[in-house]
Amino acid sequence: MTEARQIIIIGSGPAGLTAAIYASRAQLAPLVIEGEPSSNSDQPGGQLMLTTDVENYPGFVDGVMGPELMVAFREQAARFGTDYVTAKVSRVDLSARPFGLWVGDPDASDPTYTAEALIVATGAKSLMLQLPNEERLLGYGVSTCATCDGFFFRGHEIAVVGGGDSALEEAIFLTRFADKVTLIHRRGELRASKVMRKRAHANPKIEFLWHTSVIDVLGDKKVQSIKIRNNETGEESVLPVTGLFVAIGHQPNTAIFKGQLDMEDSGYLQTLGTTTYTNVEGVFACGDVQDHRYRQAVTAAGSGCMAAIDAERWLEDQAASRH
Ligand code: NAP
Repeated sequence: MTEARQIIIIGSGPAGLTAAIYASRAQLAPLVIEGEPSSNSDQPGGQLMLTTDVENYPGFVDGVMGPELMVAFREQAARFGTDYVTAKVSRVDLSARPFGLWVGDPDASDPTYTAEALIVATGAKSLMLQLPNEERLLGYGVSTCATCDGFFFRGHEIAVVGGGDSALEEAIFLTRFADKVTLIHRRGELRASKVMRKRAHANPKIEFLWHTSVIDVLGDKKVQSIKIRNNETGEESVLPVTGLFVAIGHQPNTAIFKGQLDMEDSGYLQTLGTTTYTNVEGVFACGDVQDHRYRQAVTAAGSGCMAAIDAERWLEDQAASRH
């Protein structure tokens, strides 16, 4: 049985849930397909579910726990009539309206849902090193966001992994707080731009560890050290750091939209000008799935608001043109 909805939001991070608050207050009774608690990219609530203290979300003088903030977003949207389903979308058909969405078997002949308008807020995931203890210590010394967590490492010695612009930007930013930042790169040459390389090399708090891979992160409740290996000699050693920032890139969650929505080579969805319109009329995108520049909870929430307003006005125009 296919369930027909006026508006469906895929994703339940700050972007998707802010879109839900606005859409439900506009009486559109949105359905949020919130993901599945299976991996670091699909869990309901998005990336904030993997962080602890959030101190840069406006309105919380003493900070707020990431999961607590997302529960509040969720309840706020529910209060105005948002429906939720905990599931993962396996296929979409955006070739005709209403759009078709499949949950579960992507080969089923009928879609699970249809939607007149669709808001894509599927976010992005940080690429991780896949270390044995990395996921367990995420939020307890392992971080993927220097802007979010740097403040907690005042006076500490920490490490950043990666050789691209993100890694250098994070390392430079972290020197505001940390006494020492060790930049660990697997090769002997950085991928980052010249200007960033120059800036990082000129920073006396940054030390480079070349041809080195992190092979595990150690600590009972918090990071106490990392295990590293020299890729040229094979020699293994332990580096005593209290923080490990993984900055090896991000990947937007756009696989199900390939060939249907315009995206950059890197997979990020393209939106039109300063709006949340995609190339398919009636489909809007917000949050990290279309933003590799800012990637903040507050900017994601802002663009979620924009997507709901864009969708609401578009639905109104559709209704007006039918009369
Ligand atoms: P990136 O350019 O793809 O760099 C990723 C880095 O992580 C590379 O040095 C790579 O090593 C390393 N890496 C990847 N997988 C790894 C693994 N499993 N173990 C260890 N190291 C690994 O990603 P990014 O730095 O996030 O940048 C993405 C894009 O955004 C780039 O175009 C960048 O210029 C842009 N950006 C710009 C700015 C800025 O201009 N301020 C800031 C941030 C990002 P290899 O070099 O050996 O492949």
